[in-house]
Amino acid sequence: MNLMLFGAPGAGKGTQAKYLIEKFNIPQISTGDMLRAAITNGTAMGMEAKSYMDAGKLVPDSTIIGIIKERLGQADCKKGFILDGFPRTLAQAEALEELMKNMGISLDKVISLNVPDELIVGRITGRRVCSKCGASFHVEFNPSKVADICDYCGGELIIRKDDNAETVKSRLEAYHAQTAPLIAYYTDMGVMVELDGTKDVNEVTQDMFALLK
Ligand code: ADP
Ligand code: ADP
Ligand code: ZN
Repeated sequence: MNLMLFGAPGAGKGTQAKYLIEKFNIPQISTGDMLRAAITNGTAMGMEAKSYMDAGKLVPDSTIIGIIKERLGQADCKKGFILDGFPRTLAQAEALEELMKNMGISLDKVISLNVPDELIVGRITGRRVCSKCGASFHVEFNPSKVADICDYCGGELIIRKDDNAETVKSRLEAYHAQTAPLIAYYTDMGVMVELDGTKDVNEVTQDMFALLK
């Protein structure tokens, strides 16, 4: 199954991806996680991406398309995958279509998690992420079982550098200007399904699984 999780920053894509991994045993492909790994490893690509990410702007398409091309070619993607946070521009969506066409595969579903802007700031400022595996928690809405420790791997939970009220504003602007037009793109393609992302984490998961039956 080739899936995509779509939505504004903080809509819950990473959170729901974890449940899809468990259920379908397919990898999550998060461009944000891959960029953060590149920054941690001090690669040239990571250094270039960092300034955009810290400012809440999108990283250039050529960089993103390059990492996706390499990732989708890896063996574990053969049984399917969950795209999380990619594509974010029309150029990325078109590059993905071309790439998948060449691989002889197609998208089964694009799952949009709909959350209004007013709720996004609270989600992002309360987010805590695992420094080891990237799993996402929330101090109030989705706390880890033990404070500051990841439920999945025991790693330390941290606050992402870009998870602050100022950066959220530019990330939401980028989302509306550059990413939201993809809703029409995938609706026209006939693969778009929309979910109410304002419900509790578990309810969203149940709604999502119902769609995938
Ligand atoms: P969130 O889940 O909160 O939206 P991500 O981890 O997906 O955050 O992305 C963090 C940052 O990484 C984005 O603000 C952007 O700068 C960069 N980024 C991630 N994915 C992409 C992409 N597909 N295209 C351009 N920039 C991206
Ligand atoms: P994204 O990957 O779309 O940027 P995350 O999955 O990281 O979003 O979720 C953003 C924040 O909101 C995290 O702190 C997460 O724990 C929290 N969150 C996710 N889903 C929900 C939900 N349904 N209700 C309330 N908070 C949620
Ligand atoms: Zn972890």
